Amino acid sequence: MTSTTILYLIIGITVVGYLADQVLEYINLRAQRNDIPPDVAGFYNPEQYIKSLAYHREQTQFGFITSAFSIVLSLLMLLFGGFGWLDEVLRPYFQQEIWRALAFFGVLAIVSDVITLPFQWYATFVIEEKYGFNKTILKTFVTDKLKGYVLSAILGGALLALLIFLIQQIGPGFWIWFGVIAALVVLLINMFYTSLLLPLFNKLTPLPDGELKTAIEAFAKDVSFPLDNIFVMDGSKRSKKANAFFSGIGKKKKIVLYDTLISNHTTEELVAVLAHEVGHFKKKHIIFGYILSVVQIFFMLWVLSLIVYNEQVSFALGGTKMALHLNLLAFTILFSPVSGVTGLLMSIYSRKNEFEADTYAKETYDGQALANALKKLSVDSLSNLFPHPAYVFFHYSHPPLLQRLKALS
Ligand SMILES: [Zn+2]
Repeated sequence: MTSTTILYLIIGITVVGYLADQVLEYINLRAQRNDIPPDVAGFYNPEQYIKSLAYHREQTQFGFITSAFSIVLSLLMLLFGGFGWLDEVLRPYFQQEIWRALAFFGVLAIVSDVITLPFQWYATFVIEEKYGFNKTILKTFVTDKLKGYVLSAILGGALLALLIFLIQQIGPGFWIWFGVIAALVVLLINMFYTSLLLPLFNKLTPLPDGELKTAIEAFAKDVSFPLDNIFVMDGSKRSKKANAFFSGIGKKKKIVLYDTLISNHTTEELVAVLAHEVGHFKKKHIIFGYILSVVQIFFMLWVLSLIVYNEQVSFALGGTKMALHLNLLAFTILFSPVSGVTGLLMSIYSRKNEFEADTYAKETYDGQALANALKKLSVDSLSNLFPHPAYVFFHYSHPPLLQRLKALS
């Protein structure tokens, strides 16, 4: 393929992906309904419900603006060879390919973050604020950003440098070596997420003594889940939205409950939510999820090995010489239709897991308590009650509330 054909392919994939996303957002917005389903009627007051519709509408419309902005920017960069130009600018300062690749992606990451900063700020301090969710103060917003920068510079930088090194030193077989390393890194992140990464951003404390702990102790003993792995997180530092999640593999497994969840739910509802999370563990969702992502990583790296040495790809992005980082960037776009499909399959798998974890909570504890907790969570986060089925199919990692309630009853 010539560089021009590759450029057209890249532009085509970018535009089609953008249009498909926008159509989905649009039909999802059109699917809004004003009636409150009888299942949840007792939980919503009509005023709140109207508010949830407005919240969803405003988020979608804001999404239209940010996506339009970013597609225009991407197309300009592609059409005018902006990426090749950046490579050219960096060349005299960074002779070594590894350092130039780090500088290249570093500049792109910082510039795109700075350009989109007003949008991020608006989303948190205007939209979330308006609907009463936001509790982030400017200081948290700024320190989150800085910590995020440092973390991605260290982790992302190390992985990128290693990838470039292996591509140069090993040749086309690099994908097996890097695949093994990436699989290990994902495993380590999974294992240490709650003990090393999360504490950088949030405070985790063991569940305090009291009625809730006693109730959880009784349940945990029933299903033989170690209790010392349950933590409370100060989610209220950023948002009023509540959540709970399971994380980790083997001895490092932990369940984290947001403080916002605890303050808004009865003891029975909280144990039911916890039972759902234990269900994810008992049904081995974490292990299988990990295996699936490792398979994906290997497949992606193998495809990368087919195009990463092709100089036409660098020329397509406006480069005058072959550059591995230009090829890596082009690859992320060329591969996006495939990752779209694998993402879709992962969402289907994840929705199936949610039903299974719900069933587990129903069988081992109390389906009605879980149903009530799900309703409350849905009301409190103003979540969309009537998402379009196509939108759910492509985007939802959790089944919509009404489907879960139906399955629970
Ligand atoms: Zn779940």
